[in-house]
Amino acid sequence: MNYKYFDNAATTRVKAEVLQAYNDACNEFFNPSSLYTPSLSVKNKIEMARESILRYLGGANKSTFIFTSCATESNNAVLRNCIKRKDKKYIISAGEHSSTYNTAKAMINEGYNIDFAPLNEDGSVNQEVLFSMIDRNTDFVSLIHVSNETGAINDIKYIAKRCKQINPNILIHSDGVQALHKIKLNMVNLGVDFYTISSHKINGVKGIAGLYIANPNKFTPFIYGGGQEMNLRGGTENFPAVMAFSKAINLPIMEYDTVRELKQTLLDNITVPYKLISTDKCVPNIISLCFKDLRGETLVHMLEVDGFLIGTGSACNSKNTANRVLTEIGVNQDYILGAIRISFETDCTKQDMIDLAYAINKNVELYYSKTKK
Ligand code: PLP
Repeated sequence: MNYKYFDNAATTRVKAEVLQAYNDACNEFFNPSSLYTPSLSVKNKIEMARESILRYLGGANKSTFIFTSCATESNNAVLRNCIKRKDKKYIISAGEHSSTYNTAKAMINEGYNIDFAPLNEDGSVNQEVLFSMIDRNTDFVSLIHVSNETGAINDIKYIAKRCKQINPNILIHSDGVQALHKIKLNMVNLGVDFYTISSHKINGVKGIAGLYIANPNKFTPFIYGGGQEMNLRGGTENFPAVMAFSKAINLPIMEYDTVRELKQTLLDNITVPYKLISTDKCVPNIISLCFKDLRGETLVHMLEVDGFLIGTGSACNSKNTANRVLTEIGVNQDYILGAIRISFETDCTKQDMIDLAYAINKNVELYYSKTKK
């Protein structure tokens, strides 16, 4: 079946030029750590890709970027690097992706003092409460840049600045997986110490992601090995995926106005009642909606029959019953199970949005007609 795909926050299509870069690199199969010339060529290309990504991110002097296998690894690596003392305090937001949230939960069980900063109604962090939680004993704050659930944007630049004013020793990490290609990024400007990105959310291939590190002296490896990645991450480099990532990151970023119009077209054409979680302050490519007394996963399956693929929220969470982030932001119980997440790219047309809206109207009405007592 030729599906219409509206789940780009879960993953994106690999673009042709990215696949080409991947395939070309597959021919250079040499281990970058070997000493002969073909290996040196591979190694040089990896370094050029690293530089190109660092340039794209606007990295500070002395900063670096390491390739990892996925953003989940990057987030685990940062938390394990920054949370080391049981007499210190650490803060993450309640809206973090599970790769951060569940690592923090595991570390709380190991005896670390990690608190969760609460969220506003759209899923962004409540800044004033966050700032009030910080004291001289707080060593680390990790905040998602753009929520994968609602599209809410955290003002990382302002938050990082305020956190460091309160305590200059704080290290700041931001998970920028959903911000990359949606928001223009500059690491120096953001003022972060660590920043996570992932390739498969920006039309790259899976199995490659990375971590921006402002000061490599403040990072010890999460994965030890043969000295790859400047001794900061062991494991033979995934050269084809690295080349594909560097190609993908240099593709054009999302056209905000076009995507905002597409969002509006969708919302204007949904005639069944819904609760909109993703406000105008959120990135427009992620729309979280809830329908009363309905099960989001049932609607997902009904829409699939009609040829539309959407999400219920983070793909990594889709088997949980109530969405954790929506619970945190206080979405009413009548609505919370009826949450869906629609996420799309600039290449969608207005007609695609109208078609999706009609399919939603039809299936929500059908659902209510079948479940009405
Ligand atoms: N962080 C955010 C905000 C995400 O949306 C995701 C994926 O959904 C991840 C981290 C994990 O990314 P990866 O699939 O590369 O591990």
